[in-house]
Amino acid sequence: MPTLIEALGAHAGELAALRQDIHRHPEMGFEERRTAALVASRLRDWGIAVEEGLAGTGVVGTLRGRRPGGQAIALRADMDALPIAEVTGLPYASANPGVMHACGHDGHTAMLLGAARHLAENPDFGGTVHLVFQPAEEGLGGGRRMVEEGLFDRFPVDAVFGLHNEPGLALGRFGIRPGPMLANVDTWSVAFRGTGGHGAVPHRATDPTQPLAAFVGALQSVIGRDLPARETGVLSVGHIAAGDARAPNVIPAEARVTGTGRSFIPAVRATMGRRLRELAEALAAAHGCTAEVAYRHDYPALVNAPGPVALAARAAAALGGADTVDADYPPITAGEDFAYMAQARPAAFMLVGNGVAEDGSFHHVHTPRYDFNDALLPIGAAYWVSLVAHALGKDA
Ligand SMILES: [Zn+2]
Ligand SMILES: [Zn+2]
Repeated sequence: MPTLIEALGAHAGELAALRQDIHRHPEMGFEERRTAALVASRLRDWGIAVEEGLAGTGVVGTLRGRRPGGQAIALRADMDALPIAEVTGLPYASANPGVMHACGHDGHTAMLLGAARHLAENPDFGGTVHLVFQPAEEGLGGGRRMVEEGLFDRFPVDAVFGLHNEPGLALGRFGIRPGPMLANVDTWSVAFRGTGGHGAVPHRATDPTQPLAAFVGALQSVIGRDLPARETGVLSVGHIAAGDARAPNVIPAEARVTGTGRSFIPAVRATMGRRLRELAEALAAAHGCTAEVAYRHDYPALVNAPGPVALAARAAAALGGADTVDADYPPITAGEDFAYMAQARPAAFMLVGNGVAEDGSFHHVHTPRYDFNDALLPIGAAYWVSLVAHALGKDA
């Protein structure tokens, strides 16, 4: 009797070819037309009912088990790529200049397709599995749009599950935790405004670079002095702009700074937004300037529910043993729009190790040398199949 990973590995070459084909043809969020058509046609090939056009380019396949059972679960993969110019030099590198699968969503799509085929051929479960292929995870909120457009009204489920590769985590190791697992993502900007003037006579000007410089220095006091020491918060500056490089003797009238904020709980998010505004406005006033502050909430924190997490951890442990699963994995200060699905239904978002790159180095996601590890395809697909067996097994 082959193990589940060995069973899924029977199609490993085909899955790798599929993954590399998607990798070669990356598409940006809400533009995944080729990818969505490929997904829909494969699902239909395997006799799976398919709905297309959810949230634009989203696809949902539905499978019913041969045993009776009233439970339903959703398994979610994302399909979109990033605006990054690939430099891997791989034979299947992006043929779409400036667009790249640098987060492994090509692999996520292929792993769920691999599971779909196996489940269609072996519907030895009771209940319903919805295979959700979502568009536009990278910043555009395709997951939110799917929920807003009635994903879970059309496809009611008791729980929803996500899976993401994690570079640097050993191949096939799993990581998950109950509660907040990925962060609230905020984007903020401050425009300091004064009068500007001649650099030779600064006393005749109000200089907005002064409060900006003080603000950048003071910003980390929000983390160190305003948050409880046990809580996590991040405020990082991403861009600063003022003046004209051709005019070093001119004090600019405006100086702008923008950045990102990360947190795991609403109270920390609120404190960071409030204190950032207070500091900007007070420092501007101290220097005779004004501050226009914008603090925008993007993706919410991804909060895993305890029940689905325990189920997911058991399903992963069934593949390679309990010591391959860290069920108290440290939370990550990146964001994920699976968070919106997790707000709508009890959810578990699992990480699986992508290992290290072929050249032995560590290529993080969102970098131009990243590549999904094809050795992970049968492992991730086996996780999905194991999850269905655990969620909708004989007793369902
Ligand atoms: Zn990403
Ligand atoms: Zn991703």
